[in-house]
Amino acid sequence: MEADNGEECRIYILRRPDQKDWRVKAQSGDEAAKLCLWAASNFMKDIANEPLHCGSCEKLFSPGKMPQAFIVVTPIERDAADVRAHAMGVCSECVKRDDRWLIEQGPKRKGLPPTLPRKNDATH
Ligand SMILES: [Zn+2]
Repeated sequence: MEADNGEECRIYILRRPDQKDWRVKAQSGDEAAKLCLWAASNFMKDIANEPLHCGSCEKLFSPGKMPQAFIVVTPIERDAADVRAHAMGVCSECVKRDDRWLIEQGPKRKGLPPTLPRKNDATH
């Protein structure tokens, strides 16, 4: 972490009960929601092809054991066309924890600088 030239990440937690809301948001043109759903669906596809484990523990997913939530990390970049989102699955045990815990065990542990999205505080 030497050169910090404003590169930041934003982290979203997509839980299964909220999936409908995310879809509605995406359909109404919300870029973040679109990106999150895209990343989550990519993760689901990957599960069929390779063993992926929970972002917060070592539990493996399989087509019969799907994640109960997703942690999506999106770098904040100016060029919207070049934004790449990365999704991590959350297993049925870890999903019981709160968002903060998930972020600390997942993306944070892997060294990404998280920026928690806050309501009424779009950009910082
Ligand atoms: Zn887990």
